[in-house]
Amino acid sequence: MIHSISSFRPLPTGVLQYTPPFIEENGAILLKVKEEELLIGLVEDNEAVQDRLNFFHRSSRKKLTFLTVDKKDLAISLARIVSESSDLSEGAIEGSGMSLTLDKLAGDAPIINLVNSVFMEGIEQRASDIHIEKMDNAVQVRYRIDGVLHVVRTLDAALFPYISSRIKIMAQLNIMENRLPQDGRITVSLGSDEVDLRVSIVPIAGEGESIVLRVLHRSEKPLMLDELGFVKEHIQEISLLTGKPNGLLLVTGPTGCGKSTTLNALLQYIKSDRLKIVSIEDPVEYYVPGVDQIQTNEEIGLGFSTLLRRVLRQDPNIIMIGEIRDSETAELAVRSALTGHLVISTLHTNDAVSAIPRLLNMGVEPYLLASVLKGVSAQRLVRVVCPDCREERKLTPGEIQLFEKKGIKAPSVLTLGKGCSACDHSGYRGRTLINEMFSVDENLEDLISRNGSRTELRDFLRKKKAAGLFEDGLIKVKEGITTIEEVERAVDS
Ligand SMILES: [Zn+2]
Repeated sequence: MIHSISSFRPLPTGVLQYTPPFIEENGAILLKVKEEELLIGLVEDNEAVQDRLNFFHRSSRKKLTFLTVDKKDLAISLARIVSESSDLSEGAIEGSGMSLTLDKLAGDAPIINLVNSVFMEGIEQRASDIHIEKMDNAVQVRYRIDGVLHVVRTLDAALFPYISSRIKIMAQLNIMENRLPQDGRITVSLGSDEVDLRVSIVPIAGEGESIVLRVLHRSEKPLMLDELGFVKEHIQEISLLTGKPNGLLLVTGPTGCGKSTTLNALLQYIKSDRLKIVSIEDPVEYYVPGVDQIQTNEEIGLGFSTLLRRVLRQDPNIIMIGEIRDSETAELAVRSALTGHLVISTLHTNDAVSAIPRLLNMGVEPYLLASVLKGVSAQRLVRVVCPDCREERKLTPGEIQLFEKKGIKAPSVLTLGKGCSACDHSGYRGRTLINEMFSVDENLEDLISRNGSRTELRDFLRKKKAAGLFEDGLIKVKEGITTIEEVERAVDS
């Protein structure tokens, strides 16, 4: 049985933890001090270490009980101990190299340990982004967890230049540059986990910089289509659409709504030995074996449109384009779809139907769009009620009305999380998607080629009884997956 170190912390005042070098060298941590017994966490069942600890504690006359702890867990506790006990004001900057290994923590300077522990705790708490900014008289560290930012540390403003320099060294950036934006990458090994941190540093007014690190887990498997939160009917519809030999499929939504996760799941779903699939991404977030993934690089002129022209000579069946941002890419995407390719891409629009006017505004001819567009799905991410602290409550009359207004029978209870340590007292853990989608049939094709207005398009879909984002959200509220507040927050964004 593996014991969690955090369930034992902290030690009572006056009881000293082992020194960091001792913890690191022996893989041992003091967990609990009882009247006649000491509980000690060990990474390995190692007799020599146990002998050493018996010798170390010989004067206490207490019984030693050894419990197994995880190496990664120990490394995180060690980083925390170091950062809590160090005198940070004397933080000298030392060390370089872009790869950070947890096995050698204790010998490092306080700033290095501080930065390491900010990274590690962020990764441990499932943060998707780590934000470090200088605000007024303090440095604020925030984690984005399940789409929401949380302040996790407030540090002395004097530390900011040291933290910024340390991160620049790790990301192999120019340490002297603080007037121009810089991008880089840091690889962190946490046990067997390899994590990439994509670093973006932008100078902000005053004398500070905004440092944002996107956390990308290498070993993390991309989610499969049926794990994302699509209802059964939509998965069936998607499977029909992706089986087509040519045409254009679009996933839409604002930034951060999980479009690239959906595109990756689509790639996983479609890939086959009989198909040549090429995807152009900015950046490549997950590696999908069997798919040729190409990363855009605007700096050397390799944007979506340039790469798309090249890719067409690669005899692909399916082309995925990370995002259609300009008319050149839009035009090329449509032309590729016309010439026997299935093209899958994303657009930055609030709802599914707006994809049509958006593409027309980018200069695509209505009759061309009508003949290539096969389907559009719009999506948002909502947080999932924490499974560890979920509770049920009765609905208010207003809430019952909300369901009825949308033509959905109200449930008898709503589920919500009251907050616990597993969800950091937010009541939510993890996210799922809500979506709306339509496929293009002959009548809709007609309407698009006649350049039908947005209202006409909307009315057409309403007659087809296509459920909207909000309705799909309410269905997930009814199933106890999320809350009305989350759906309102997500759909309004
Ligand atoms: Zn909870």
